[in-house]
Amino acid sequence: MSEQPCDIGDADGVAMAFLEKGTKVTPLPFRQPALGDKQIRIRVTHAGLCMSDLLTSTGQWGEPYLPLVPGHEIVGIVEKVGEKVSHLHEGDKVGFGVYRDCCDMCSECRTGHENMCAAKSYTYDPYSYGGYATSFQSRGDFFFKLDESFPGYAAPLFCAGTTVYNPLIQYAKPFMKVGIVGIGGLGHVAIKFANKFGCEVTAISTTASKEQEAKSMGAHHFINSKDPEALKKHSNSLDLILDTCTAVNLEQDFGLVRPRGHVALVGAPNVEHDCKLNITQILMRQQELHGSEVGPRIVIEDMLEFVRLHNIVPDVDIYPFADTQSAVNSLFSGSPKWPRYRNVIETKDFFNTFTPRSN
Ligand SMILES: [Zn+2]
Ligand SMILES: [Zn+2]
Repeated sequence: MSEQPCDIGDADGVAMAFLEKGTKVTPLPFRQPALGDKQIRIRVTHAGLCMSDLLTSTGQWGEPYLPLVPGHEIVGIVEKVGEKVSHLHEGDKVGFGVYRDCCDMCSECRTGHENMCAAKSYTYDPYSYGGYATSFQSRGDFFFKLDESFPGYAAPLFCAGTTVYNPLIQYAKPFMKVGIVGIGGLGHVAIKFANKFGCEVTAISTTASKEQEAKSMGAHHFINSKDPEALKKHSNSLDLILDTCTAVNLEQDFGLVRPRGHVALVGAPNVEHDCKLNITQILMRQQELHGSEVGPRIVIEDMLEFVRLHNIVPDVDIYPFADTQSAVNSLFSGSPKWPRYRNVIETKDFFNTFTPRSN
């Protein structure tokens, strides 16, 4: 049971779909499957664009299935709840992230690490559409209830935010010297989090012009990683690096981290990326390497409390849903401009031109 393309007059929703490999999106009207008794259907108000959406559509993570409807940073309003759903109601504002299902039975699920479940399902896959759509439906207990005051454009917290929050709460402590490599969709949120954790934050970027913005977000220091002298000057200085790049340079990261320091990776590279690791250097300096993939629901709930307390929102450019193509072009090729720092699509105006079928 999954979404079915249909005529616009019969549609529950319209998706912005990749019908071929690449970066072109096309409006695709579709019918939702019947609502399961544990499921929720929402009217999507906002969806963030994640680089992983385009790594998927362009085949950099393997041949894409089609039609592909990505989107795993979703905010919307509950329209329908299944009979066995009691924690959410019609009209509630909700968020949805990277996972739509898990087995509930394995040791990872039973210890609150369902993002590590071998049987988990991602929000968009060959069987399910993601959030580049006006309507979204999935298992009810993977939705997060949001305050009315939660801004819909903060949808990127559900992937980008969670992805950096999860390793930071595991490895960062107040007063630690923490480096954030890559000041983009993930890195800029990581700077805000690490600052509020009480860390001394160093932003590390190949783009020297990002220094002032990084500092306005909460970085105390900035390293231009194209400058060998700057890298040398800061070698052995950091307790932890969170590397958000997809083109990871581990030798550089471990050079900046002190002995017994940590490097945590969250950016999944494309299939061809070859990454060198100086094993002798790492073992002689007793350093540690960590991986982290997004985060489980308990961590997302924790993060939502944290961002509310500290008023943290991602910096975004908002595009109308009908112009999803421009948001995609911006993220993929910087045309006509690169995102600052995350692109979000908003469906509000689209409902002036589209009325879902009544059912
Ligand atoms: Zn993502
Ligand atoms: Zn499981």
